[in-house]
Amino acid sequence: MVADWILPGTLAVVSAAMAARVLGYAATVREREEDLATVSHLARALATAPEARTAACAAARNLTGASWAMLWEPLADGAFMVTAADGIDLPRIRLVPGREPSLVIRAAQEGRSLTVPDVHRDADANPRLVTLAGARSALRMEPVLQGEEVLGVLVVAWEDARVASARRVRRLLPLLATEAAVSIERADLVTRLAGLALTDDLTTLGNRRAWDDWIGRALNAADGASGAAGTVSVALLDIDFFKRFNDTHGHQEGDRLLRDAAIAWRNRLRPGDHLARYGGEEFAVLLPGCDEENAAIVIERLRAAMPLDQTCSAGIAAWDGREPAHELVGRADEALYAAKQAGRDQSVTAPTLVAASA
Ligand code: GH3
Ligand code: MG
Ligand code: MG
Repeated sequence: MVADWILPGTLAVVSAAMAARVLGYAATVREREEDLATVSHLARALATAPEARTAACAAARNLTGASWAMLWEPLADGAFMVTAADGIDLPRIRLVPGREPSLVIRAAQEGRSLTVPDVHRDADANPRLVTLAGARSALRMEPVLQGEEVLGVLVVAWEDARVASARRVRRLLPLLATEAAVSIERADLVTRLAGLALTDDLTTLGNRRAWDDWIGRALNAADGASGAAGTVSVALLDIDFFKRFNDTHGHQEGDRLLRDAAIAWRNRLRPGDHLARYGGEEFAVLLPGCDEENAAIVIERLRAAMPLDQTCSAGIAAWDGREPAHELVGRADEALYAAKQAGRDQSVTAPTLVAASA
């Protein structure tokens, strides 16, 4: 109720001031709602992005209209490196704490965000980062925290210093960093779990699932290729009289033999080759770009490296250019059986198949 002694003019002024305040408040609420919608949209995008780190950089850039954004992460030795970037090439810079000035390391150590209005005038800015930043740049360092732990520092750059210290940026970037921390943790966990599902515990080699994946890819890559690129050989290696070894020396020594053989063989293969633990004391070797003659040489080299004076037998098969993976491995298995039948401690190559169209 408005008292009747208030002059209409006064009422109009009060109402106008109130209306302006209410409108201002409504605008702030609307702005915040929009910000929240943007952040939750970005959070959903981060949750589904296969590359959580790059997605976090892209989100920071989109959210604030930045020229670029990059994520610095600590390595095991405490140095920081860029692991993802958007709007700028991934720089190969290592920042070692205490060795040179660094705002990235300061933000990480203090666990709080830093705004740098002009990176060229900041004594704490790392000269190498200043070179990256471009002619006129304002930066914001936003720590990505998981509880007390610093997962990394998001560095965002603008040409206009006013944006870097704008209220919206100060409000949104910490929210985004929180979302980024969650999605990075989750992405790393998924990668670790996927790795575990494909790894043999005892030898740390790929397991049968990894093998199926490797051989499928190798045959696809070789399909239709000419020359060495069209060749693939596989081999199965099986330790001779392993049951007897276990019975004589104990199961733990048997485990050690499996591990030592895995290390010895892995070290004797080229980077593009693959070694898997195929079953109990049976290993599978994938040799892309390798014909049967070269495969026989490689496998003899592996057999000669068998530890503890033990022996093993091998079956080798070269891909015929069309058979599916299971048939190729089946032929290697038959060759292995033949090697065992012939007295063990040797390798046998499966007969070459002549493709019908050749
Ligand atoms: P062959 O020369 O014909 O291959 O004879 P073998 O004794 O090696 O083959 P067999 O299949 O009779 O026995 C394989 C043995 O491998 C039996 C099994 O207990 C052992 N084995 C399988 N997996 C493991 C493992 O992870 N650790 C240990 N220590 N032994 C294993
Ligand atoms: Mg055996
Ligand atoms: Mg066996």
